[in-house]
Amino acid sequence: MSVLLQIGRRPPEPEPGPDSARPGLPAEIRVFRSAHGAHLFVADGSRVYDLPEATAARLEAWTAATSAAAHDPAADAALAAELGLPLWGAAGVPAPRIDGTPAAVPPLASLSLNVMQACNLSCGHCYADEGRFGGNARAMPRETAFAAVDRLIAEAAPGAGVVVGFMGGEPLLARELVHDVVDHATRAGADTGHAVRFALTTNLTTVRPEDAELFAAHPFTVAVSLDGDRAGHDVLRTAPGGGSAYDRLRAGLDVLNRHGRPRHLSARVSVTPYTGRLKDVLEHGIGLGFDEVGFAAVVSAPDPAYEIGASAFAGFLEQMTECGETALAELAAGRPYPFGNFQTAMYELHTGGHRPYPCGAGAGYLSASAEGGLYACHRLVDDPAFRMGSVAQGPDQGARAEHLAARHVDRAEPCRSCWARYLCGGGCYHEVARRGRPGCDYIRGWLAFCLRAYVELSESAPEFFRRTTPSDLPGDPAGLAR
Ligand code: SF4
Ligand code: SF4
Repeated sequence: MSVLLQIGRRPPEPEPGPDSARPGLPAEIRVFRSAHGAHLFVADGSRVYDLPEATAARLEAWTAATSAAAHDPAADAALAAELGLPLWGAAGVPAPRIDGTPAAVPPLASLSLNVMQACNLSCGHCYADEGRFGGNARAMPRETAFAAVDRLIAEAAPGAGVVVGFMGGEPLLARELVHDVVDHATRAGADTGHAVRFALTTNLTTVRPEDAELFAAHPFTVAVSLDGDRAGHDVLRTAPGGGSAYDRLRAGLDVLNRHGRPRHLSARVSVTPYTGRLKDVLEHGIGLGFDEVGFAAVVSAPDPAYEIGASAFAGFLEQMTECGETALAELAAGRPYPFGNFQTAMYELHTGGHRPYPCGAGAGYLSASAEGGLYACHRLVDDPAFRMGSVAQGPDQGARAEHLAARHVDRAEPCRSCWARYLCGGGCYHEVARRGRPGCDYIRGWLAFCLRAYVELSESAPEFFRRTTPSDLPGDPAGLAR
């Protein structure tokens, strides 16, 4: 029997759950190698172990022989027992942390307000169709926004922290409303014992000194849409009258630097076929002073020319890996390198992060449209398939429960036989609904790189994991959905 040494922090032991049919061994484990030898990743609990080379070779041959679905469970179990693999069912190994049981509908923890479903820029790759979500430009009435905040607090767990998000379109076009909502939410939260934090996603072209002061005075995370240097940004983001959206963003950064920075200021890069070399874009963003810079491939856009299709994902992976290798080298040398995607992956692996859903959309997170409809998330606003109640009537608990039951990753094909499923969660609902899952090889390739990087960084710079906490991390747009 092999002696396997677990690397990293151990996730909490789960409550025992009901048994369910498990997929074959290729979906339960992944063998990988780093500069320090062979290792085993166990999907359940996102656990990482050192592995003797002979065991690694045997497992690789075994798992490569047939697909996960075609594996014989009895033969898999016998091999796992012989090799002493720490899989559920083995002596001393607890029940799986995730089984096919849908999550219970949790209390609401974050709500984004689409305060302005319109934008001052026109960007072909915008998922929100410049904020209109396929409809007319419109603003959220003040009474709807206040009622939405009151609804969030009423639906939150007693004493829990909550997050109010401002999305659009461009939320700062509704500046006065944003300021009033922050004031209202802070007072309402103080009355009920809920600490309220705020998140805002902006193109930063219209920010004023009073906004910067608001961001600095309250617990704000601000995510800025940045697509590259001046040429790279302006080719994707068209400012009215032909001005430079990039120059306006830089002026906005100056306003923040002079009048007050939010607690966390991140740059989010939407990657299209027109985006420049990612490492250059990343280092440009870091050079501008953002606390963190992260990438997201555009999978679904009103104009398909802006989408990263299945064939372009290989190039995306290559470029992401180049950025990741640089982050690994810089962090190992003790220098900061705030590459958001890499930081998030390191944190998730270190803490055994794993989940049966891609995000909290429709669970602890909802988004309110300008008219006061509640939807699973900010990207799914005005999509009837993801309608989840209204501000006036409250969240539709039945719709949320159905959503969680239908979208459990162990019930989705081909996810249920994918080794990456508890880190991936099955893909963004918005993207899956519109484009399916074109990026699976990219997701697995990126996670495979991150597994190697995790082991190597654990050896070269263990202090990195002591420093990095969830508050250092980006998360979904504005940190709302996780
Ligand atoms: S979306 Fe793709 S990568 Fe993610 S769990 Fe499903 S099959 Fe795996
Ligand atoms: S990952 Fe979740 S919260 Fe983010 S856009 Fe997709 S469905 Fe919405």
